[in-house]
Amino acid sequence: EDLAAPRRIKALDADVVNKIAAGEIIVAPVHALKELIENAVDAGATSLEIVVKDGGLKLLQITDNGHGINQDDLPILCERFTTSKLKAFEDLTSIGTYGFRGEALASISHIAHLQITTRTNDSSCAWRAHYSSGKLVPVKPGQPAEPKAIAGRRGTQITVEDLFYNVPTRRRAFRSASEEYNKILDLVGRYAVHCSGVAFSCKRHGDASMGVSIQAAAETVDRIRQIHSSGVANELIHFETADDRWGFSSDGWISNANYHVKKTMILLFINHRSVENTSLKRAVEQTYATFLPKGGHPFIYLSLDIDPKRVDVNVHPTKREVNFLNEDEIIEIICEEIRVHLAKVDTSRTYVTQS
Ligand code: ADP
Ligand code: MG
Repeated sequence: EDLAAPRRIKALDADVVNKIAAGEIIVAPVHALKELIENAVDAGATSLEIVVKDGGLKLLQITDNGHGINQDDLPILCERFTTSKLKAFEDLTSIGTYGFRGEALASISHIAHLQITTRTNDSSCAWRAHYSSGKLVPVKPGQPAEPKAIAGRRGTQITVEDLFYNVPTRRRAFRSASEEYNKILDLVGRYAVHCSGVAFSCKRHGDASMGVSIQAAAETVDRIRQIHSSGVANELIHFETADDRWGFSSDGWISNANYHVKKTMILLFINHRSVENTSLKRAVEQTYATFLPKGGHPFIYLSLDIDPKRVDVNVHPTKREVNFLNEDEIIEIICEEIRVHLAKVDTSRTYVTQS
C-alpha cells in the first residue's frame, strides 16, 4: 500500500450508520425503557406494566392501555423520524408531548428484536408486528413481512428482546444485570411519582413480587411513601411557584428541615419528562445547606413547566441534561421559595420546643 497517497473516502454502510446513531440514543436498557414509558404516557395510558429480564438486556416489555397505533401506520412506525407528534419544523417550538423526534422505536429496532402488539378503540382486533433495522419483518419465519391480526385489548405492548445483540462491544460493557435493573427501578419510580392518575408496575420476569407497584388512585405523597419511604413522606412540604416574566410554573414536594439523607435525592421533571439540570441541583443543595446538619441532604420532587420555546431539549440526543432560558432567574425564584418554606418549618419547630 502506498502510504504517501491519501486513502479514498467512502460512505459508511447505512446499516452501520443506523447502529451508531441508535447506540448514541440508547446506551443502556434504561434509556430504551424511558422512551417507551414516555410513549405510553403520551398515548394517554392510565396503566403501565413493565417486565424485565437480565436487567433489560434479555427482555424489556411494557404494556399500556393507551390509544394504540393505527394499523395503517405500522409499516412506517419504526422508520427514522416518523412521528405522530410533529408535523413541521415550526412545531418544534411548541412541543407539548414528551419525545418528539420519532427516533426511539427506529433506534431500538436497529439494536434489538422488537415486537409490537397494538389495538385502537375502533379496531376489531389487535395487530402484531415484528421489526428489524427500521422495517417490518415476518412475525414467524416464512410468513409475509406484515402485521398479523390477533386477539388483544386496547393499548400497546412493546417487547424488546436481546438488546445490543448486534453490538457486541456495547453488550460486553454491562457488568451486572442487577445494576441495570436498579437503574430501571429508579426510572420507573420517578415516573410513578410524577404521573398522577397512572398505575405503574415493574418486576423481573418470573418474579412474584413487584419492584414497583403503584395504584392509579394513589396521591403523590403516597407514591413517594411507597417508592421512597414513610420517613421522607412524613416530612414533606408542598411547594408551588410561578413567574410569567420567565414563562414558568413549578410545583412539587420537598423535604423539610427535620429530614436529611447522605445524598440528595432529586426527581426533576421539565415539561413532564424526567431530566437533569446540574445548576438547579447545586443551587437547591446550597439552599438546604443552611438548614440541615453538615453532610445532610434533602429529598426534592420538582415538576417544572416551562414555555417550550424556552427549553432546549436537543442539547444531547439522550435528552438527559436539559437547559432553558433565564435559568439563573428561575432557579433563584425556586430556591427563594424553598428558603421561605424551610424557615417557616424551622420557626414552628422552635415554637413547639418553647411552649
Ligand atoms: P416519537 O415519540 O418521538 O414520536 P417514537 O419512535 O418514540 O417517536 O414513536 C413513534 C410513534 O409511534 C409515536 O409518534 C406514536 O405515534 C407511536 N407510538 C409509539 N409508542 C406508542 C404507544 N405506546 N402507544 C401509542 N402510540 C405509540
Ligand atoms: Mg417517543
